[in-house]
Amino acid sequence: MEAEHVFHRSTEARPPLAVRGEGIYVIDDRGGRYVDACGGAAVSCLGHGHPAVVAAMAEQARRLEYVHTGFFTTEAAEELAADIAGQCPGTLDRVWFTGSGSEAIEAALKLARQYYLERGDSGRSKVIARRLSYHGNTLGALAAGGSAWRRKPYEPLLIDVSLVDPCFEYRFAEPGESAEAYGERAANRLEQEILEIGPDRVMAFVAETVVGATAGAVPPVPDYLRRIREICDRHGMLLILDEVMCGSGRTGTFLSCEQDGVVPDIVTLGKGLGAGYEPIAAAVCSSEVYDAVATGSGALKHGQTYNAHVIGCAAALAVQRVIREERLLPRVRQSGERLMDLLGQSFGQHSNVGDIRGRGLLIALELVADRATKAPFDAALAIHQRAKAEAFARGLLIYPSGGTVDGRSGDHILLAPPYNVSDGELDMIVDLLGQTIDAVL
Ligand code: PLP
Repeated sequence: MEAEHVFHRSTEARPPLAVRGEGIYVIDDRGGRYVDACGGAAVSCLGHGHPAVVAAMAEQARRLEYVHTGFFTTEAAEELAADIAGQCPGTLDRVWFTGSGSEAIEAALKLARQYYLERGDSGRSKVIARRLSYHGNTLGALAAGGSAWRRKPYEPLLIDVSLVDPCFEYRFAEPGESAEAYGERAANRLEQEILEIGPDRVMAFVAETVVGATAGAVPPVPDYLRRIREICDRHGMLLILDEVMCGSGRTGTFLSCEQDGVVPDIVTLGKGLGAGYEPIAAAVCSSEVYDAVATGSGALKHGQTYNAHVIGCAAALAVQRVIREERLLPRVRQSGERLMDLLGQSFGQHSNVGDIRGRGLLIALELVADRATKAPFDAALAIHQRAKAEAFARGLLIYPSGGTVDGRSGDHILLAPPYNVSDGELDMIVDLLGQTIDAVL
């Protein structure tokens, strides 16, 4: 391997060469074995090399590798859509397949806009989203995201989206404020924004059910999302929940919002949907949204070459079957509790671990300069990146994240092990993480 032609994420150095995956391990060309405690970016939810998924993909590739959705549908797409619809609550039963989470968000935004156009309500085009959120890197998704450093260079290219604060108790609740009072205050902020913009101009509120990469595994406080749902209904706008990271079973239920008792109008899925075996994602909409298009112009004015790629659909269908056959959703809940306990025992009193939080097997530690005041580390120290490097040197893969709003959030380490992680592997992850944190702090 002499040639240097791949445009890598960093132009400074080529990353190590991964050659194989086995269960929770990624193996490099020098035989180095890395415990994949984050599934890349919360993707590899069955670990690497699951034989049932690999076999389903090979079988599909042998029979038919590609057709364009402008000509054909496929068994794999039809069966996967039925499977997803069967797992989603309420009337979320129409599935638009894309190749990535960002594209799923783009499709969701366009679908929301078209929903209002079909109903003759062309004045609604405004999107409200949240700070410290991440919905992807394509321009529409980036505009809806609230990750300041990701947006900054591209600001002139972004559509105008209003951003409100996320629901993030550790950072945004006032001292002494109850979770309930805080949740109400956070939700009311959305209503204020709607009233300021003018309710008949707003088409959708977009939020991650559990905030993933930017704020670090932040679940909503009880009742926050229920209030959000009521506010959206009151103002006749759509609720789009982004479950690209936290959906597809990652938190122990197929959709994470099931645990909040809320059904959005559109939900996006990705990452764990295909478990990394193929790039596949989806925007799932309610029958009401679908019917508006079906009884109106009859087509979403949007389409991409690789929509509903048949091998991706076959892979994701096999993933759903494995999750059921191996009874992995209850296991995610149990292993998530166990991981929380282990982290609490190891780091609960650590002077630089401010918060340990998450849902199911999406868990983060927030690293702080001062536990008592919650003061973040100086951003220039890039503590989360150093943690990633130290973990890597010890054969552990963790997902680093950091984002700041008024100095109110800082460095996080995100853990998203596979749904079939064993107890021994969880012990190993926490042990290696302890060594990592000792090395950094
Ligand atoms: N939405 C959320 C919540 C995500 O976490 C991500 C990726 O991290 C995306 C959307 C974008 O997905 P993709 O990277 O597949 O485009």
